[in-house]
Amino acid sequence: MDGGAAPLTLPACLVAALVAEATAAAPREACGLLVGHGHDVHRIVPAANVDPSPTRYTIDPAAHFAALRDARRDGLAVIGAYHSHPAGGSRPSPADTAEAAPDFLYVIVGLVPSPAVAAWRLVDGNFVGLGLVRT
Ligand SMILES: [Zn+2]
Repeated sequence: MDGGAAPLTLPACLVAALVAEATAAAPREACGLLVGHGHDVHRIVPAANVDPSPTRYTIDPAAHFAALRDARRDGLAVIGAYHSHPAGGSRPSPADTAEAAPDFLYVIVGLVPSPAVAAWRLVDGNFVGLGLVRT
């Protein structure tokens, strides 16, 4: 994976799908994977949130395996993950930062005060906002 701080490219239809999924999952967090190439998201793969806490998320490991397999089959990669903040904005929480992996892209869907989608990447232990290009 490469691209540094290049913006994330996300089709507008997927932005709408992310907001719809986040809204439907509330008050729980929605989560899933971003499949694509580099910083280009080709598709999103919704996954069950298997975390017992209403304010955290853990992507179902079986869904993660399936997404990896399907991405490889299509010549793509799992480039990141997304989740929602049903009661907050699109900035990462301290838990998000603590649990983040480098070289993975994070999209957060905030619903409060209004739906907002932002992309982040961990650089030296801190999240850095990436631009979001809606295509
Ligand atoms: Zn979060």
